[in-house]
Amino acid sequence: MIVELISVGTEILLGNIVNTNAAYLSEKCAGLGLSCYFQTVVGDNEERLTQVLKTAVGRSDIIILSGGLGPTEDDLTKETVAKFCHKKLISNPMWRKHIEDYFAKKNMTPTENNWKQAMLPEGALVLDNPNGTAPGMILETKSCRIILLPGPPSELIPLFESGVRPYLEQLTDGALYSQTVKLCGVSESAVETKIKDLIDAQTNPTIATYAKTGEVHLRVTASGVDAKEAKKLTKPLVKELKSRFETELYTTEEDVTLEKAVIDMLAANGMTLTCAESCTGGMLAARLVNVPGCSDVFKSCTVTYSNKAKRKLLGVKKSTLQKYGAVSAKTAEEMVKGAVFTSKCDTAVSVTGLAGPDGGTKEKPVGLVYIGCNVKGTITVEEYHFSGNRSKIRESATAAALALLRRCLLVYIGKTSFGKN
Ligand code: ATP
Ligand code: MG
Repeated sequence: MIVELISVGTEILLGNIVNTNAAYLSEKCAGLGLSCYFQTVVGDNEERLTQVLKTAVGRSDIIILSGGLGPTEDDLTKETVAKFCHKKLISNPMWRKHIEDYFAKKNMTPTENNWKQAMLPEGALVLDNPNGTAPGMILETKSCRIILLPGPPSELIPLFESGVRPYLEQLTDGALYSQTVKLCGVSESAVETKIKDLIDAQTNPTIATYAKTGEVHLRVTASGVDAKEAKKLTKPLVKELKSRFETELYTTEEDVTLEKAVIDMLAANGMTLTCAESCTGGMLAARLVNVPGCSDVFKSCTVTYSNKAKRKLLGVKKSTLQKYGAVSAKTAEEMVKGAVFTSKCDTAVSVTGLAGPDGGTKEKPVGLVYIGCNVKGTITVEEYHFSGNRSKIRESATAAALALLRRCLLVYIGKTSFGKN
């Protein structure tokens, strides 16, 4: 089955918005075992959209359009598709009621043009959209299936999950099951080297690697006659990955982030955390605060950007700063010592580095970062060399700080001996 995506919207063509819907939909379709060979962006223009549709039906089995289902004059996706398929638009009483209820709930009255959204192509399968006033629609023609989704991601994503995914699953042979394995503190190339034999031998399940900032995610996908069999097929490979990446693997749960894994570990051991940040300027704290309920564990963060602040707030010695500089292992060490001392937490992480673009020297180039961890008095400091622009370096440093903290915690709770991956 070949799927093709058409993103409708002049704002996407102009670069005013990033086409995240296409990225989302292609990833999901690939996960379902559908091949996606073409994606098109087209403006809100009937003639050009018709042209794109003509091409798409000639080469693909399923077409997913997103955007242009709104109530205004420039929203013309549904009208154009209906005309293209020779279907009339007829008023759908059920959807009229949905619009009525939607507005009533918000204590608002619909405007005249909102009723346009209850005009649906004859014979279309209607997919409920609890987050908006345009439904998803599926039109089946002799040669092709055309799926229409509203543009706002807050509507498109839930609609895909509740309506489109089950529809696509029953079209594909059997069922697919994917399991994500998330690793941290290891490079993509190191991961690929370690599993080269598994990649070379893959058939069913397959294995794909995705590099994220400071993390590598592996996706194991199997197909079976049903979801249960597919899931069973992924198990031996996931087990093998667990044993190969014993210390780097932090979760196999889709919705567990690295910060959540770290907070959970600290909580399980009744520990408290503070951080001392220089070049990351609070980014590490911001990631930790992403985790709901983190206040039981995460207590404070000191952003010490200047040398004076490092001395005053964390007690870094003047002589240390003079002799080794702010970006040094010694400073990172004194930062975590001071952070634990002033906060009375039992765990601290410090980050000090050069995010650039200026200020680099031959000895201390841009991207040089020291990360310190203090776990109940045991201090570890590591040196990192990151590349990219200022924000990329800061993001990499933040992810590395979480990964190092996790590794130090594993050592503390006796789950691993210390060693660089
Ligand atoms: P609305 O009822 O809001 O008009 P719509 O179905 O007509 O919805 P559009 O008008 O095309 O959709 O887009 C509405 C908003 O949805 C855009 O301003 C943008 O924020 C978001 N959006 C649209 N298309 C995309 C896309 N391909 N990727 C990411 N966001 C998108
Ligand atoms: Mg619109």
